[in-house]
Amino acid sequence: MLNGKTALVTGSTSGIGLGIARAMAKNGADIVMNGFGDADEIEALRAGLESDFGVRAVFLHADLSNPDEAVGLVKKAEEALGKVDILVNNAGIQHTDRIEDFPPEKWDAVIAINLSACFHTTRAALPGMQQRDWGRIINIASAHGLVGSPFKAAYIAAKHGLVGLTKVTALENAKQHITANAICPGWVKTPLVVKQIEARAEAEGMPMDDATRKLLGERQPTERFVTPEQLGELAVFLASEAADTTTGAAFPMDGAFTVW
Ligand code: NAD
Repeated sequence: MLNGKTALVTGSTSGIGLGIARAMAKNGADIVMNGFGDADEIEALRAGLESDFGVRAVFLHADLSNPDEAVGLVKKAEEALGKVDILVNNAGIQHTDRIEDFPPEKWDAVIAINLSACFHTTRAALPGMQQRDWGRIINIASAHGLVGSPFKAAYIAAKHGLVGLTKVTALENAKQHITANAICPGWVKTPLVVKQIEARAEAEGMPMDDATRKLLGERQPTERFVTPEQLGELAVFLASEAADTTTGAAFPMDGAFTVW
């Protein structure tokens, strides 16, 4: 379905980004991976994409908190695989605190990676897409791009901002075959969320299983985690020809998190 397309997936060394990279590769796209982690483990993941799905896969390092590196990532991806047809802005971090206790440097870091980097990569990738009259920009926002929760000021501001950036990107490119959509996951069991469950288990003196059940029970009515594989399938649809007129939207895949 995505044969001949090249997908750059930021933060694809782990969690949701890796699930999306694998789903795109399974559907024939060549992949540019990015993210932090152990070099040998990253190489094994990259080689796995090639051997499992018969596509080309490269890994490019870039620290997306740095705007020059975000732009450089797109340029290097274009050099490595010829073009970026599909840009998945997925890399993200979290910090939790009450606003009055929120360290300003944590605010800056969350906004830089979860929002500003998406602007910089989009800005760099659009000219090539416009020239080819085809592109897909998929922004991994969050249920927290649609609703609020306490203690996540920077994350929720960034994710609401990302849904806004998605709308503007869609409108400015609507006449061409270039779409921009946001995916808004509920709880997904990745390292980003395991850290939050661990913090909670420790703070409330409860086993991890109980802390997990409590986390899901509070906000996610299905009481099941969304999976990276499920999110990968939604991303593949948004990248497909069938989604040519699906643009400017924010899709919850959240076990009814945002239905309350
Ligand atoms: P994760 O921690 O498993 O993965 C995050 C990825 O981003 C990793 O590959 C990491 O190396 C990369 N990354 C972090 N900082 C980076 C930087 N400065 N430069 C480059 N790469 C960087 O987390 P995840 O849960 O898979 O999160 C992926 C995205 O999904 C994030 O944007 C997150 O906000 C969003 N999300 C997650 C959940 C969830 O429940 N896990 C829910 C909604 C939205």
